[in-house]
Amino acid sequence: MARVRLEHVTKRYEDVTAVDDISMEIEDGEFVTFVGPSGCGKSTTMETVAGLTRPTEGEVYIGDDNVTTLAPKDRGVAMVFQNIALFPHMDVFENISFGLRLRKYDDEEIQRRVEQAADIVQLEGMLDRMPDEMSGGQRQRVAIARAIVRNPDVFLMDEPLANLDAKLRVHMRTELQRLHRELDTTIIYVTHDQAEAMTMSDRIAVLNAGELQQIAPPLTCYNEPANRFVAGFIGSPSMNFAEGELVEDGVRTKNFHVDLDPGNVPGMTVGDAVTLGVRPEDVHLTTAADTVAQPTDPIDARSDVIEPMGDEMFVYLLLAEGAERSMEEDPSSSADQLLMSVTPDTPIEEGQNVDVVLDRSKIHLFETATGQALLHGITNLSGRDSGTTPTEADS
Ligand code: ADP
Repeated sequence: MARVRLEHVTKRYEDVTAVDDISMEIEDGEFVTFVGPSGCGKSTTMETVAGLTRPTEGEVYIGDDNVTTLAPKDRGVAMVFQNIALFPHMDVFENISFGLRLRKYDDEEIQRRVEQAADIVQLEGMLDRMPDEMSGGQRQRVAIARAIVRNPDVFLMDEPLANLDAKLRVHMRTELQRLHRELDTTIIYVTHDQAEAMTMSDRIAVLNAGELQQIAPPLTCYNEPANRFVAGFIGSPSMNFAEGELVEDGVRTKNFHVDLDPGNVPGMTVGDAVTLGVRPEDVHLTTAADTVAQPTDPIDARSDVIEPMGDEMFVYLLLAEGAERSMEEDPSSSADQLLMSVTPDTPIEEGQNVDVVLDRSKIHLFETATGQALLHGITNLSGRDSGTTPTEADS
């Protein structure tokens, strides 16, 4: 087990800054996931911890040791990658024990470690199988067992489930959580899949364009995203955004108004551009709005496409000033979309005119210019205290 610390790590390749001044501390035994879109620098950041890449600037510590220039084998890390490179001519036992043999462990110790690792990843009874006799999930477990026998201080996993089918991925997610519990080892995990990040991690580090956007527990990223990027990336389907302006008595967007005392929006004044964000589950039909303590004024909308998902139903709403009339006259008029998630038994049809409200306690405001979060929740109509103001600790 060991703590991992990145101090102002930057990695530049000629004209690309893959990692841009990232600092973070990962606790001993913590499961931290690097998540973000393809090309955002997740793998490169992990490679600086693994020792596969040397940072252009900055330092990497494992435990109390500055490992920035150490070779991978001297760092006490073990890696599992997306492409499972098992030796095809070796059986499971030989594949798992290969690294130990190279390091000249005695036969008894090898036997003990391999059996223990096979037990942890539930491969008992399969030690004499050849790789081509196994499923993708089983092969991935062999790769994980091969990392476990090394008894590393830190596990580094780069998209280890990416090549598995959807069902197996979900299953392996729970296996990895169990593995983390049993081994109690620091794990750094890379994925572009926010659902994977949300379900497994103690904290997630959201990256974009080489920069760390937020590192926080999954639900903090979900409920109090540090900026618009995190708000849009975490959560599926994605948060709705509406561009607007701070006015005397609230926020005005193209199609609706939300009451608010502008004095409560830190650092902003009337006339400033703000972006309002609300998740699909925080949009409600007025008919169901009695469950919302502080709804906004009703917003005219028309249901466009409806997607039944089984456990919930997604309704794509079109908004426009006087939605009913303008869309009947010209259905392709510049209506904005708002996605609403409702229970599957909600009586609503495509093409129906409806009124919706937003749950004020779940509305987020972002500074349009920078994307930084200004408020999470606008809970008090009259003023004083409105929502949570993001703090340094959130980002
Ligand atoms: P991610 O893992 O988030 O998909 P990467 O860390 O692999 O992203 O890459 C981050 C950026 O750095 C990308 O623009 C990628 O093209 C670039 N990059 C990564 N490795 C190299 C390399 N060896 N040479 C040049 N550019 C690289």
